[in-house]
Amino acid sequence: LQKGAEGVVDVRPVSWDDIGGLDSVKLQIKQAVEWPLKHPEAFQRMGLSPPCGVLLYGPPGCCKTTLVRAAATACHSTFLTLSGAQLYSPFVGESERLISEVFQKARACAPSILFLDEIDSIVGKRSASGSRGVQERVLSTLLNEMDGVGVRLDEGTGGSQRVLEGSAAPTCIQVSEHTKVKKVREKTSVENKSVLVVAATNRPDLLDEALMRPGRIDRIVYVGHPDQQARHQILSIYTQGLKLHECSLDELVGQTDMYTGADLQSLCREAALCALTEDLSTSVVAGAHFQQALGTVPPSLTPDLIS
Ligand code: ATP
Repeated sequence: LQKGAEGVVDVRPVSWDDIGGLDSVKLQIKQAVEWPLKHPEAFQRMGLSPPCGVLLYGPPGCCKTTLVRAAATACHSTFLTLSGAQLYSPFVGESERLISEVFQKARACAPSILFLDEIDSIVGKRSASGSRGVQERVLSTLLNEMDGVGVRLDEGTGGSQRVLEGSAAPTCIQVSEHTKVKKVREKTSVENKSVLVVAATNRPDLLDEALMRPGRIDRIVYVGHPDQQARHQILSIYTQGLKLHECSLDELVGQTDMYTGADLQSLCREAALCALTEDLSTSVVAGAHFQQALGTVPPSLTPDLIS
């Protein structure tokens, strides 16, 4: 990442209605992520402390990233992402510097959500033998940065609001109200410096306990695989633009027990491609195309991933 580079900033807006099922998870994420950033005054009125950081865990392809995007869209906050792959790329230079730059950027574009994807690959458990070189330094940089951010509640006196100094002055891209991409300059005022760190993992057992100390990650939400009702809703979402013929979503729900949301999305895409393969001028997808697609899109879930 170069200062001001846009590789860590994501702008695709997502609505809560784009997500099938997961009603109680959506509510938990609204409470932990959307409301503190969008309605800090309501938390203040009720004497509630907003979370410092939130961890989503659960099997891959089951919507963790998409849920956070939806929260970012709903509260019009900047959404920045960082993954282990970006961090340990041989092209980025010093990993600790990259982490600090991303946090600087998040502060400069606040209110913002900084999404640490596959956080276990960014920082795993420390080994009993001590230092792990770069990973050890990455963990300590991350912990320091996390200690300096959070959702600010304006208590009217100004006394409780920490002023974060030393930010770079990047231009960044913000998810806007009207789904347009707009450029925003660094905010020089201190009135809204809220940065909420949201991390995701499929392997919570691999995380260093220091991440879970008070003031760091203090809300944990399990994002499970889709049940029957959720699969029906997900299939409805991904077939809503299609003309279906002799196609029973209920039957498909029964046939997709170990499918993730991502698998169901692929299944619908594959069924549409099967229809086009037969007839490039058609706008109809038949049940038979879904049956064909089931043969080429297998489920990703295995019992060990959801136990
Ligand atoms: P990973 O752990 O592999 O990063 P993830 O849990 O973050 O995966 P996403 O990246 O959010 O999963 O989802 C992958 C794709 O599947 C996205 O395109 C997403 O929209 C779709 N998807 C997953 N679950 C659902 C769902 N419940 N409703 C609608 N789409 C879904």
